[in-house]
Amino acid sequence: MVVHTIKQNPEPWYREGLRFECVQCGRCCRGQGIVWISPEECNTIADFLGVSQDVLIREYLLECEHGFVLRDHLDMSCVMLQGDRCIIYPARPLQCRSYPFWAEILESRESWLSEASRCPGIDRGRMWSFREIRERMLR
Ligand code: SF4
Ligand code: SF4
Repeated sequence: MVVHTIKQNPEPWYREGLRFECVQCGRCCRGQGIVWISPEECNTIADFLGVSQDVLIREYLLECEHGFVLRDHLDMSCVMLQGDRCIIYPARPLQCRSYPFWAEILESRESWLSEASRCPGIDRGRMWSFREIRERMLR
């Protein structure tokens, strides 16, 4: 007789929490790919900078098939990076806010440790609980 079992979702491997503490090196703001901006984030960032949506779009964003992304400086760093400082830090987009707790980075312990070669804050410093990680992913 064949016994069919329902495959349970395995517990996330990071159930016991993860260590992460940003050391403010700014690497994730330099040449690390595109940063998506939702329409709501367009409003938030424009308000934060005190500019109109038109100015924000013209000077800071690029329009793609699927929405807006932040422009880069010529050296491939994010347009919002000035020196070592993000000029929209309190209003930065979810993609930045939730890093490094992204689904693809949290896929496995190996992918988490692999990301550590790009982010020196991974696997060091403060311990984030499972709940905090999930909240951070959504905020
Ligand atoms: S790469 Fe990591 S440690 Fe460096 S600024 Fe980004 S989040 Fe912080
Ligand atoms: S918006 Fe700020 S935190 Fe996000 S990539 Fe640009 S400079 Fe870095």
